[in-house]
Amino acid sequence: MEIKGLLFDKDGTLLEFHQMWLRVAQGVAADIKAMYVVNKTINTTEVQLLEAIGVFGEYVDNHGLLASNPVEDTALTWYEMLQPQCDLSEFTAVVKSRFNAQVEDNPELVQTLPGVKDKLIKLKQKGFKLGIATADTRDSTLYSLKLAGLTELFDYIGFSDGDIEPKPAPALLLGFCQQCNIQPEQVVMFGDTVSDMEFGANAGARKVGVLTGTATESELLPYADVVLASVADFELTFCRESGISNL
Ligand SMILES: [Mg+2]
Repeated sequence: MEIKGLLFDKDGTLLEFHQMWLRVAQGVAADIKAMYVVNKTINTTEVQLLEAIGVFGEYVDNHGLLASNPVEDTALTWYEMLQPQCDLSEFTAVVKSRFNAQVEDNPELVQTLPGVKDKLIKLKQKGFKLGIATADTRDSTLYSLKLAGLTELFDYIGFSDGDIEPKPAPALLLGFCQQCNIQPEQVVMFGDTVSDMEFGANAGARKVGVLTGTATESELLPYADVVLASVADFELTFCRESGISNL
């Protein structure tokens, strides 16, 4: 079936992931520890908070909550560790606001990956519908895409933000299809994590893994139709040769 839509994960796929989210997560963990670790009975450290979301020193695990899950999952994990004197929804709102604040306080960390913007412009000119499916929050997503000058290129910007089922559930890909009046089989999903590949598979789309984020080629290969070094390397001829497109 003819490919009509290209759907992209954001961090690690279009935007530089590692420096930005490592620094943001470290900042949020410090904020949360300062706010909630106020007694000696629960003496959780920043290192423990970070390791619980898949951040080990400078290494970010591609299966961890930071790389693959929405902030609500980070909040739930930290809530269970810290046992704060408030309900989960209140704590989640605080964690979310700290993540958004850390992103907005560090605009220099928002970097488009090399060659990606030019590639998106060319794909748009060829008539493809372009979309985003991210686990990031609404505010942080809109802020970073605007800062990167990418917003206008997209026909659909999908984020979960607690009100739509996050990846790897197929809801965001189906939302893209509905918005653009195309079928899931006409979509190629690009992402840097196994969760992104499972997301594409769950919706019935083709999957292209990229190595600009947290996962290695050997981690992505069992789940992807094709693994590329970067979105910037995506060529339709390559897709045809790989059997994921008949264009
Ligand atoms: Mg990603």
